[in-house]
Amino acid sequence: MTFQRSQELFDRANTIVAGGVSSQIRRAERPVPLFFKRGKGSRMWDVDGNEYVDFVQGMGPNIFGHAPDFIVDAVREDIDNGFCLAGQTEHELEVTDLIRAAVPLKGLMRYASSGTEIDQLALRVAKAFTGRSKWVKFEGHYHGWTDTVLFSVHPSLDDAGPVSAPNAVGESLGMAPGAADDIIIAQWNDLEALEAVFKANPDEIACVMMEPIMGNTNCIVADDGYLQGALDLCEKYGALLIFDEVITGFRVAHGGAQEFSGVVPHIATYGKSVAGGFPLSVLVGLPEIMEKVGSGEIQHGGSFNSNVMVMSAAKAGLSHIAENPEGFYNDLNGRGTRLMQGLSTAAEEAGIPMLVQGVGATFWTTFTERDSISNYREHVSSVDEEKYAVFAEHMLRNGIRLATNGRWHMASAHSDEDIGQTLEAARSSLKAMAG
Ligand code: PMP
Repeated sequence: MTFQRSQELFDRANTIVAGGVSSQIRRAERPVPLFFKRGKGSRMWDVDGNEYVDFVQGMGPNIFGHAPDFIVDAVREDIDNGFCLAGQTEHELEVTDLIRAAVPLKGLMRYASSGTEIDQLALRVAKAFTGRSKWVKFEGHYHGWTDTVLFSVHPSLDDAGPVSAPNAVGESLGMAPGAADDIIIAQWNDLEALEAVFKANPDEIACVMMEPIMGNTNCIVADDGYLQGALDLCEKYGALLIFDEVITGFRVAHGGAQEFSGVVPHIATYGKSVAGGFPLSVLVGLPEIMEKVGSGEIQHGGSFNSNVMVMSAAKAGLSHIAENPEGFYNDLNGRGTRLMQGLSTAAEEAGIPMLVQGVGATFWTTFTERDSISNYREHVSSVDEEKYAVFAEHMLRNGIRLATNGRWHMASAHSDEDIGQTLEAARSSLKAMAG
């Protein structure tokens, strides 16, 4: 297997695109950030002619796999009538109805293009509604790359500070000096820690924003009672609970993490899977919370918001799922669970401690001696990231493409044959690593 053409293009890219990539995480791909010709269903083909079973799936959005025919056809039909109308179409209402039917939180919606953007709106809405400015962010959770949220996503233990009062560790140069002033960092999956934060900042906290299943540092399902406890604390202290469902929405269940956990927040945000690979993000907020968005007192705009392509794709994708939601998610999670079990067995057989943790439709593989990970600090103190990078490169050379961070994304296009091929590749990769 050769990556010569990708290497040539990447070398050229480095001279004209900063770092050769347009999203930092892509730079970590080994042996070289790949250039692709095509993706279809579960598979991708790079410019050197290599074929892969793909578990990156756009970092999650391609819930049906690459370029599903029913989305391609729908978008193709609609774009003849214009792309960007800066006006409403009936598709926008149909999509809103489809989301409303699926998601337990019944509220008013707003649309944007990326998860980063929509999380900004969520914070603004929560601050305006409560008249407060502080908010609680958890270590290891990711809510986009802007100044307001890019803190303590992946801090080293040295920087992270005491677990009872973690530092807000900025993750980029050039962030506004005061950006951390409103953020209180806490440990997720720990109700006492959250209560302590509320007690220390009475009447000051606008909201608690969280990934309701922690998908950006391992795949951690909250302990029983944690999400409900967090909701109760928010209500007790007059704050709003925001679920960032950019990963979990339309992936772990039709109703996302809310259906999975039975807990319904005040605001929820969606992105990634909601439009089957097209750039759409959604905010859902309780009607009283959204009032000032409706009146225009809270500003929100965007040239690309609810454009023809994304609404066409979302309508086609969400309608497809709505035909048989139970079957769709049983299948997606079932196949993912079988893959998880197979990967664990392969690691055991190779004598390599590898943790496979998650919920089927998305999960992580990490190299650690632990048999489970329940918070950020357990993850960062025990996981060998270099070993995962070596595993991912072995897998790539065996025809399986994995994300550089360890997260796997199932698509409905993954077949039993794909799973078989992936497990074969895992056995051979782990055997090579065991030496
Ligand atoms: N929230 C979460 C939970 C995410 O995982 C991501 C992206 N990985 C974002 C927000 C930001 O979304 P986007 O990349 O579309 O800006």
